[in-house]
Amino acid sequence: MRKLRVAIVGSGPSGAFCAEALAEEAEYDISIDVFEKLPTPFGLVRYGVAPDHQKIKSIVASLAEIFEMPGVRFLGNVTVGSDITMDELREHYDAVILAAGAPLDRRLGILGEDLRGVVAARNFVSWYSGHPDAAFDTSLLDAERAVVVGVGNVALDVARMLVRTPDELRRTDVPEHVIEALAEHAVREVHVIGRRGAEHAKFTNKEFLELTEVASADVVVSPSELATPEVESARASAGPATSRLLAALQAAADRPLHGRSRSIHFHFDRTPVEFIGDTAVRAIQLAQTSAPETLSTLEAGLVLPAVGYRSAALEGVPFNESTGTIPHRDSRVVEGDEPVPGLYVVGWIKRGPSGVIGTNRLCASETTGAILEDAPLLRDAGSSPEAVDELLDARGVEVVDWSRWLAIEAAETTRGAAAGRDRVKLHDRLGMLAAAGVSVR
Ligand SMILES: Cc1cc2nc3c(=O)[nH]c(=O)nc-3n(C[C@H](O)[C@H](O)[C@H](O)COP(=O)(O)OP(=O)(O)OC[C@H]3O[C@@H](n4cnc5c(N)ncnc54)[C@H](O)[C@@H]3O)c2cc1C
Repeated sequence: MRKLRVAIVGSGPSGAFCAEALAEEAEYDISIDVFEKLPTPFGLVRYGVAPDHQKIKSIVASLAEIFEMPGVRFLGNVTVGSDITMDELREHYDAVILAAGAPLDRRLGILGEDLRGVVAARNFVSWYSGHPDAAFDTSLLDAERAVVVGVGNVALDVARMLVRTPDELRRTDVPEHVIEALAEHAVREVHVIGRRGAEHAKFTNKEFLELTEVASADVVVSPSELATPEVESARASAGPATSRLLAALQAAADRPLHGRSRSIHFHFDRTPVEFIGDTAVRAIQLAQTSAPETLSTLEAGLVLPAVGYRSAALEGVPFNESTGTIPHRDSRVVEGDEPVPGLYVVGWIKRGPSGVIGTNRLCASETTGAILEDAPLLRDAGSSPEAVDELLDARGVEVVDWSRWLAIEAAETTRGAAAGRDRVKLHDRLGMLAAAGVSVR
């Protein structure tokens, strides 16, 4: 039986689903090495999906089973591009799948975007998720008013996390320093801004209803936001998802406020024009999207644009700067019009930053389908797992393999038990490596 050696760059859902599909393949004997720059697996399932969405996060149990399948190896703490180059991967493997996700931010491209206090939602998400590379200045939480720009599910995650109480957060795996910072913060009002009318809101009805159930905050929707001809016509003709969402927004607008200590306000049909301030943001200027000459100003000391993640170019791999994705044809990476032999792409770096975890399963089956179709023609790299291990070892790269990851996990559970919680995430790289039993030089 022909043996195939496949490298996957990234251990998020798209990489994991590719590993699963290849490991289950009966026609070939496939060994799969999954390279991950962090000491931890699962990508945005660990560092994106909101901590209070534990039901969705429980998918990690199924993803973990994939990394335990025969033929699959997890090589954590290995950055492709520095610890091992793309050329070296292509030399040692018959096929390489790029599953590196979207670690950057889309920008709004307006004045004042670099002022202190304007922070991409991704930074805040990474910080509360305990990402080891997260950089979020907690003094920004001294602001009384925060503005979230964007009306997708990530915007609602961020708004909800800003108003959660410490007790609610302790039911999650959020690191203790995050809970402490959020417990003490001054933010009382969160304003969520959507560029288009309410009928175009991208968040789901489920996420919105969850927000209305948060005990510490009132959700404020002004009836005027929904009294537009566009909303009226959407009520009459939109599909079931939009109709349900408009009904939920209307119910929130009709409901008397509870007088809670915090509030989340929704504004639609508003385009951010400029962030105002000298060195730090003081306010945001908004134009009514449907009547751009109508301007308004909203004071705020913290602004979190939640307008999308963006992929980063990988050294030695074609990249389309305008779409922020790797160009491909049927999952085969292309340079100009020509496929690059043995190079494939999957997940957010292939499709852009949209779609839920499950979307990546279908995406992965397209990618692995292309590999299997090409398999008879793929060059036999003639390498071995030992050759790759030796290369990394010679460079002093401390690989966090699956058993070392399990040791990190065990340390998180022990930490949780000590604090009366199920689990408390480790958030610094050195702490993770120490828990993994890696001697840090
Ligand atoms: C804030 C947020 C909340 C979300 N909430 C939900 C939700 O509730 N439900 C839901 O279904 N979906 C949710 N999603 C979407 C879901 O997380 C994505 O669909 C999914 O994670 C994308 O998978 P991916 O494998 O393409 O990328 P990722 O999950 O980002 O994985 C990419 C991996 O590649 C690694 N990597 C990158 N570069 C390198 C390199 N050079 N070398 C080695 N490794 C590298 C990264 O460290 C990362 O681990 C959410 C997304 C975000 C951003």
